[in-house]
Amino acid sequence: MHQIKKDGFTFDVGPTIVMMLDVFKELFADVNRHLEDYLTYERVEPMLEIFFNDEESIPFSSDLVLMIKEMEQMSEEDALGFIEFLANIYKKYLIAKEAYLTRSFRKPTDFYNLKSLWKGLQLKTFNDAYSELSKYVKDERLRKSLAFQTVYIGVSPYQGPSLYTIIPMIELFYGVHYFHGGMHAFAEAMEKLFLELGGKIQYQTAVDEIVIEDKQTKGIRVADRIIESDYVVCNADFPYAMKQLIPNESKRGKYTDKKIDRMEYSCSCLLFYLGVDKTYDLKSMHAIYFADDFQRNINDIFEKGILPADPSIYLYTPSVVDESMAPEGMQSIYVLVPVPELSLYDDWDANVIVEYRHKIMTILQTKTPLEDLESHIISETIYTPHDFENRFNAYNGATFGLKPTLLQSNYYRPHNKFKYADSLYFCGSSTHPGAGVPIVLQSAKLTVEELLRDDRDR
Ligand SMILES: Cc1cc2nc3c(=O)[nH]c(=O)nc-3n(C[C@H](O)[C@H](O)[C@H](O)COP(=O)(O)OP(=O)(O)OC[C@H]3O[C@@H](n4cnc5c(N)ncnc54)[C@H](O)[C@@H]3O)c2cc1C
Repeated sequence: MHQIKKDGFTFDVGPTIVMMLDVFKELFADVNRHLEDYLTYERVEPMLEIFFNDEESIPFSSDLVLMIKEMEQMSEEDALGFIEFLANIYKKYLIAKEAYLTRSFRKPTDFYNLKSLWKGLQLKTFNDAYSELSKYVKDERLRKSLAFQTVYIGVSPYQGPSLYTIIPMIELFYGVHYFHGGMHAFAEAMEKLFLELGGKIQYQTAVDEIVIEDKQTKGIRVADRIIESDYVVCNADFPYAMKQLIPNESKRGKYTDKKIDRMEYSCSCLLFYLGVDKTYDLKSMHAIYFADDFQRNINDIFEKGILPADPSIYLYTPSVVDESMAPEGMQSIYVLVPVPELSLYDDWDANVIVEYRHKIMTILQTKTPLEDLESHIISETIYTPHDFENRFNAYNGATFGLKPTLLQSNYYRPHNKFKYADSLYFCGSSTHPGAGVPIVLQSAKLTVEELLRDDRDR
């Protein structure tokens, strides 16, 4: 949720799409405050526009009347399938919310109990997202539009558990919002709240170690200073934290270096943060331009581990509604290209970046309204997966943490309460329940509940 301010432009570095606004509000409501007193926001409409080759785009709206009209243009059969899909996935969402998302797991019986296993069976999550959607809708564009959103949490729509088709449902049912000032405004709002509540923040200070003695967490080490504490909560990426912050393997149970390396990681992203000295006629704040051969694109990222020859591109232009993000008459443009994580591909030398940038610019200038983009760029910053690894300690530069495969979800995802040392807790993308800002907020909430439970017992 970092921000770049450069040459008069403002860019969100990572997250841009605000889903599940209620979860953001809840954090403030839990301490008797209102999010609205800390930032302003608006609903985004259309919430997303999807472009395919030269054909017309599909605008996605959370206005069901508009959406049904859009679907009926494809076929009434697909409109019906769309509604059936939504009803079915909403049912699963309610089950998952109750049984997994709002629950943390400490011991096997928290998960392996009859109720939980029955709920798991009801989810019928073994299919991949694309196959599951294909049961409901025929139009290839519609199938892809609904399935691709698993990439938001770094999994392939042709592999990941079909449950992740809850993402488009969540967007359609609860809408997409925009925080004025960008997603970073929420980080600032949390900072303000934390300071008001008496919290202290040590900026620009890297933690070097989590100090554990005899299975009891004693505090942290910053350079050669030990800071003692009753509890430690860590939201640095879990696999990184295991390897780097608890360097002694014997103190971290099953999470040996070998295990960490064998785990599966979500994809990464290549980002271009561009400031342009003109305003393009971009109607939607969030737009996706699909690769001609989407399946190959996904294969390149997740299977072959190569830079996609024909990439899909996500464009985010907050200046469509927020003038504060760019100087007058100019625009800040965020271009995201999903790429493999670093254990699959890490050849990001200067030549590769120059060549791949050329490919992306060509696509942007031919497929999108940015027809003369290159000649209008006056500010440019590029982040490769190495930036996510080096700047934020994201293991393998995987921008969404551990991949949420079935074997790395729920009970099988790193727990919020650490099993191998007392008084140590983890939250964040690579822990339960998973990645995405609202889900990470939920992870933080579960972590706090675990800590309070232990504190009461003490
Ligand atoms: C490009 C991109 C696009 C995304 N788009 C969306 C989106 O549209 N919507 C959405 O909801 N989610 C999105 N996400 C996912 C979402 O941003 C993440 O899941 C979420 O921010 C992760 O939160 P976290 O607290 O786990 O990790 P982080 O936000 O990475 O926080 C971990 C923090 O710990 C710090 N840290 C690490 N090691 C140390 C150390 N040793 N000492 C001190 N500090 C340390 C890091 O610098 C970092 O600030 C996106 C992510 C990326 C990268």
